[in-house]
Amino acid sequence: MPIIASYAAQSATTPLAPFDISRREPGPHDVEIDILYCGVCHSDIHQVRNEWGGSAFPMVPGHEIVGRVTRTGSHVTKFKPGDLAGIGCFVDSCRTCVNCRDGEEQYCDGGVAWTYNSKERGTDIPTFGGYSTLIVADENYILHVADTLSLPGVAPLLCAGITTYSPLRHWNVGKGSKVGVVGLGGLGHMGVKFAAAFGADVTVLSTSKSKEADARKLGAHDFLVTSDEEEMKKRKSHFDFILNTVSAKHDYGQYLQLLKLNGTMTLVGIPPDAIPLKANPLISRRRSLSGSMIGGIRETQEMLDYCAEHNIVSDVEVIPMQMINEAYDRMLRSDVRYRFVIDLASLKV
Ligand code: NAP
Ligand code: ZN
Ligand code: ZN
Repeated sequence: MPIIASYAAQSATTPLAPFDISRREPGPHDVEIDILYCGVCHSDIHQVRNEWGGSAFPMVPGHEIVGRVTRTGSHVTKFKPGDLAGIGCFVDSCRTCVNCRDGEEQYCDGGVAWTYNSKERGTDIPTFGGYSTLIVADENYILHVADTLSLPGVAPLLCAGITTYSPLRHWNVGKGSKVGVVGLGGLGHMGVKFAAAFGADVTVLSTSKSKEADARKLGAHDFLVTSDEEEMKKRKSHFDFILNTVSAKHDYGQYLQLLKLNGTMTLVGIPPDAIPLKANPLISRRRSLSGSMIGGIRETQEMLDYCAEHNIVSDVEVIPMQMINEAYDRMLRSDVRYRFVIDLASLKV
């Protein structure tokens, strides 16, 4: 098996460093992809640092993958060598449970094979992600990528894009909706772009005053610094829907108060710590608190096609693989405008 260059974490406390991996030879239904770009998601940091527990090492993170097909198995019908292709957060699922059959494979009851920090289904073989030069996956878990968009900007759509598109669609955000997006990072800035594109009135709620001008450029109509108690009070019972993308511990109740009667706040951010919640902010306006995880293959393709049609990509800072540890530090300081994307050419020299 050929040796493939990657960057891996050997433990929860060591920086990422060069590591050689191997990939399976493409089987009849497999597609081999030369990875061009991979986005850097905050979930990569959570898992590399074992903040959610259960991390397996060595770990090659990366689940916002865009590349070009190099080889296809004999039974592959959806891709041919030379095609652009994308891989998101998972590479397989049981295919038979009710959620898989409904195209919601990310909620598979039989067990999802995640793109990294997971096992190939039914085996003990670890999966390795997109901080690497080559990947092999089943064609049914690979997305088509348009050749009209800027490729580095497409990579983050595979996680940050679908994770924000899916709940906005599920909760019917559109013209007339008042939407709050909490946290203007990788997910948040895509949430703003989609909610604005769907016709909603969008407010960014951020800890960083310095992001106001960007928020408005991204499509937000209003901007709130969450430490400004007076301004927060003014938005009480204001929003129909709040998309909460925050990656660290914070007070959910503070944001629930901003929902109007029957409003919903959906969590997509996954702070490692448990967050206490009082009943009153929910009860006092029949509000709902919900969660949402990425999206299925069918909806991910729908989102990519929507982006191609509406010329939507992520705002990115392209980095060489060698800068990944610095990029993590900057993300932890909320210092990213708005997604780091690794150019894998830096590992191919
Ligand atoms: P990110 O780029 O680091 O953005 C997170 C943003 O949260 C920051 O930019 C910051 O925005 C805000 N923030 C950070 N610390 C905060 C604090 N202590 N209090 C309040 N706000 C804070 O991260 P990301 O890649 O967008 O990911 C965000 C979260 O979503 C992570 O937990 C990640 O694991 C999770 N995630 C979930 C899914 C899913 O399927 N549900 C998919 C992907 C990622 P401001 O500077 O504007 O305040
Ligand atoms: Zn992600
Ligand atoms: Zn399933």
